Amino acid sequence: FMIALEGVDGSGKSGLARSLSAALREAGHAVLATHEPGGTEAGAALRKILLASNAYDWTPTAELLLMNASRRQHIDQVILPALQAGKVVICDRFVGSTIAYQGAGRGLSEALILDLHRLTIEDLWPELTLVLDLDPKVALERSRTRLQQSQVDEGRFEALDLAFHRRVRQSFLDQAATLPAPYKVIDADRPPAIVEQEALSYVSGMLAE
Ligand code: C5P
Repeated sequence: FMIALEGVDGSGKSGLARSLSAALREAGHAVLATHEPGGTEAGAALRKILLASNAYDWTPTAELLLMNASRRQHIDQVILPALQAGKVVICDRFVGSTIAYQGAGRGLSEALILDLHRLTIEDLWPELTLVLDLDPKVALERSRTRLQQSQVDEGRFEALDLAFHRRVRQSFLDQAATLPAPYKVIDADRPPAIVEQEALSYVSGMLAE
């Protein structure tokens, strides 16, 4: 059973990944929590060169291909083995982020992204995608604080404008409304405990089926 967490930067995905993992473990599930871009050694290296502030000036299509390379490695080495071992996989970002960032954000067509997903990722979709929906303005403030605290060089994000993040947010909402995969949209402008409770209710409901 695979769950993807999606949302604009600063929407609280990583915190939710932690609390959701803990709650599911408490309920007796074996859980693997992982993230993209990254999740493997090769993926972490790709993440670095993708996100280094303006170092490489990746074109949208080149960026898309690198995201898919990172994803394929992640699936082969981490996700599929965990699913085969019966674990619940919680993945912080997955194909939904590619549609939102490389598609709505950077202007690539959704058809291209979905075709590439079919061709290179064998059309693997999470059983459930949770979208943490938050106004990018609020999310940006949260991210700024976090980036300052972590001192990680992911300055590329800082350079992107609000309009970009608004397109990203809208894309997640559009995906939930139009894609055949199961999506649930959660209002993330609430205290983390409430957000977690709602997320857990969706996950528990599906795990019990
Ligand atoms: O979620 P996380 O903070 O790990 O994401 C790191 C950065 O990667 C984010 O700022 C996001 O904008 C970017 N990203 C992207 N395209 C993706 C996934 C993430 O541009 N498909």
